[in-house]
Amino acid sequence: MGILDKLKKILPKRKEPELKNNVPKERENIRKTFGLYCNANHGTEGGRLCPKCTALLTTVMLKIQRCPYGIAKPICDACETPCFGEVPTKEFRAIMKSGQKKMLLSHPLMAVRHKIASLGVEYAKIQRDKKSTNKQKEQEEKVKSQIASATRSPKSSKPKKRRKK
Ligand SMILES: [Zn+2]
Repeated sequence: MGILDKLKKILPKRKEPELKNNVPKERENIRKTFGLYCNANHGTEGGRLCPKCTALLTTVMLKIQRCPYGIAKPICDACETPCFGEVPTKEFRAIMKSGQKKMLLSHPLMAVRHKIASLGVEYAKIQRDKKSTNKQKEQEEKVKSQIASATRSPKSSKPKKRRKK
């Protein structure tokens, strides 16, 4: 038995990272944010919602339940493919944006968590864009070298056999 195998036996097995289901927390956050927003802007009280906000919240909650991303979903206010419809999405984002400031005062922990979640989505987007630009660069280089080899005079390209590829 090699040393590595022995080590593997002694060392604890690394656990697979668990996928946390943050959806219930997000729903709770949305509900509370709506309450604060509506109370401040629509003359309602005690976290209750006016009919308009109730309707919007119902739509939002229903859509979250059916989100194609499942529990790995990005938070709704940072989602690239919002499913609420154009106008409801605008209203939703406006409420979340304005309500989060109030959330910071009344439910700081929840507000901070939400902020972190939105930063996480941003980070993932940046990473993905980086990857895609890298791919684009590779593609560019490929095309460039293809053009270079195609435009090279036959004399200079013949002697060296290209074994790469
Ligand atoms: Zn309202």
